[in-house]
Amino acid sequence: MAITTRLFKDKLPISLLGLGTMRLPRINSEASKIDDARAKEMLDYALAHGINYIDTAYMYHEGDSERFLGEALADHDRASYYLADKMPIWMAETAEDVERIFNHQLQKLKTDYIDFYLLHSQNKANFEKCKALGVYEFLSRKREEGAIRYLGFSFHDTPDVLQEIVDTYAWDFAQIQLNYADWEIQDARRQYEILAENKIPCIVMEPVRGGALADVCPSANERFRAARPDASIASWAIRYAASMPNVMTVLSGMSNMEQLEDNLATMTDFKPLTEEELALCYSAAHDWRMKDVIPCTGCRYCMDCPAGVDIPAMFALFNDYTMNKARGRYARALTDADPATRPHNCVACGMCAEQCPQHIAIPEKMAELAKLEAKLVKA
Ligand code: SF4
Ligand code: SF4
Repeated sequence: MAITTRLFKDKLPISLLGLGTMRLPRINSEASKIDDARAKEMLDYALAHGINYIDTAYMYHEGDSERFLGEALADHDRASYYLADKMPIWMAETAEDVERIFNHQLQKLKTDYIDFYLLHSQNKANFEKCKALGVYEFLSRKREEGAIRYLGFSFHDTPDVLQEIVDTYAWDFAQIQLNYADWEIQDARRQYEILAENKIPCIVMEPVRGGALADVCPSANERFRAARPDASIASWAIRYAASMPNVMTVLSGMSNMEQLEDNLATMTDFKPLTEEELALCYSAAHDWRMKDVIPCTGCRYCMDCPAGVDIPAMFALFNDYTMNKARGRYARALTDADPATRPHNCVACGMCAEQCPQHIAIPEKMAELAKLEAKLVKA
């Protein structure tokens, strides 16, 4: 049995699992420096088991990821794998900076070409800067010269911005955040559709949402285990992303051999999700969104608070945040709210909790919300 591949441009067989190198083993938990011996063992194992797409970026491990790959790949045939790297436009102020960074990447990677090159983390502001500095034109020249084989971008913004980027230039591929939790809440569905409509092959990042979907919540985990007792919880998320027909490869930022072996098992002789399994993923996404929701009905029996806290309003803002995982929106809403009504005013008198028909431990919840408020709202 071999790892499943998909054909890119009808000719390049790309492994459906790609090795992301932003979370490689480190020399200790404080440092970004890579533990070369352990990381090399993983890299060699990945290549030996058919992974041929290796993804890095200028700032991964604070620059150590490219250095590591340049050294660790030296004893592998350059034609046996595809390297992906990215232009961090926020680190460039001039066109000369762009050229300097690109040349530095080739030097660190000890190669004279990069197979898949991306404009890193495109959003409205970064894309405007790329246009102003002529980055696409520069990279197109590099493609013509053979220093880049395929040109794409990675993306973090709204579908409207994605549509604009797709309409502005011709792209060989694009990379988006796609997983069953973000399918609705981060507009991943619309982003995937835009790429498919424009026949742009899709690379998936964050299939396990930074690890959150490796341990969703007790109810979802239980249903996953009942359906496939031998499969890890993370494998459901990997299979979800890989089941999309326009997905070329699913990147996983693996940190140890256990994760690598689990992902390899999932992608070897790959079986897409059935309709029933797909429904299970969406029910898990629902439970994940709801797991921290405060069961406040807005009845206002707890009001008025002697300290001025608008209890139901504060709970409503928090619930919107937890259901939509929209941290920036929550921060803005808290900032806009009257400071006298915000959680930090609570003095834990307990009067409200006695009145709450939902038996919510309001003072304790308010203390949690006050901590979050302190992090999100500048004094
Ligand atoms: S416990 Fe806090 S939120 Fe509840 S009434 Fe007292 S001060 Fe207001
Ligand atoms: S009494 Fe309980 S359910 Fe009603 S608004 Fe207050 S916290 Fe919410």
